[in-house]
Amino acid sequence: MAQNVTGHTELLGLMAMPSRHSNSPLMHNTAFEKTGLDCVYVCFEVGRDEIKDAVKAIRTLKLKGCNVSMPNKSEVCKYLDKLSPACALIGACNTIVNKDGCLEGHNTDGIGYMTMLKDNGVDITGKKMTLAGAGGAGTAIAIQSALDGVGELSIFNIHDEFWDNAHKTAKKINENTNCKATVYPLEDKELLKSEIESSYIFTNATGVGMKPLEGMTVVPSADFFRKDLVVVDIIYSPKKTRLLELAEEADCRIWVNGTGMMLFQGAAAFKLWTGKDMPIDDIKKVLEL
Ligand code: NAD
Repeated sequence: MAQNVTGHTELLGLMAMPSRHSNSPLMHNTAFEKTGLDCVYVCFEVGRDEIKDAVKAIRTLKLKGCNVSMPNKSEVCKYLDKLSPACALIGACNTIVNKDGCLEGHNTDGIGYMTMLKDNGVDITGKKMTLAGAGGAGTAIAIQSALDGVGELSIFNIHDEFWDNAHKTAKKINENTNCKATVYPLEDKELLKSEIESSYIFTNATGVGMKPLEGMTVVPSADFFRKDLVVVDIIYSPKKTRLLELAEEADCRIWVNGTGMMLFQGAAAFKLWTGKDMPIDDIKKVLEL
């Protein structure tokens, strides 16, 4: 690929710490090649103390755009010129678009989640969702699904540093959308069971199920699930978490992991940067999805 880089090649990248493990370079560089765009995507290791200078560098070096990930998603919003409505409500940005020097912040995690549902034939309009996790990804999912018409949201979180954020998110949803959001303690498993029972869909957006919590799950047993429930775990490594094993055991009609969300958040960013559709089938092949 390096041989194809010219004086006109435009640069994009990921600003995160760590960033080297990311699938995004493979995804976007394949998409640039397949769509004939003279662009290249690389990973930058950028920590919280460096993100302000990194945003300055986007302006100085005229990068076409960037993805932003942990730990920079909230902090970066301060240094941008414009935020999309979802990005402003979520309070976190994962995609920056450089429009002739004006840096726009977007959040495509929630869009990626909603597109993944659509790709699996799931429509949550007017329905009830129980959501575990009110961290970065959980907030994006809660806000985007509320903006897109989910009827009711029961948000569960443990009493950790994200507990207050769960309440802030519910307040924003109740004040800005037609969705009714309520927060519950994830420690109360009876409550979790009864909220799942009255839900159309259950989504895990906590880190429970991936390293260092691999093999664990926020749902204690398969009897929390029933056949006509949709179960989503946004974790994509491992591909089948303990939670999804329980969904399989309960014979749930649809259970999906986070690879689709990861793919479609990338596709939404690609569209924002280039105006073109990502060649999804090609990308599914290279990512072995
Ligand atoms: P975060 O650090 O912002 O939030 C972590 C969440 O997990 C919080 O809600 C926290 O309360 C909860 N949590 C942590 N330890 C817990 C425990 N022991 N018991 C119960 N809850 C616990 O992280 P994030 O960026 O929101 O990521 C959360 C998960 O989502 C990660 O596994 C990440 O890989 C995954 N993710 C997937 C995608 C995708 O595209 N599929 C995108 C973003 C994040």
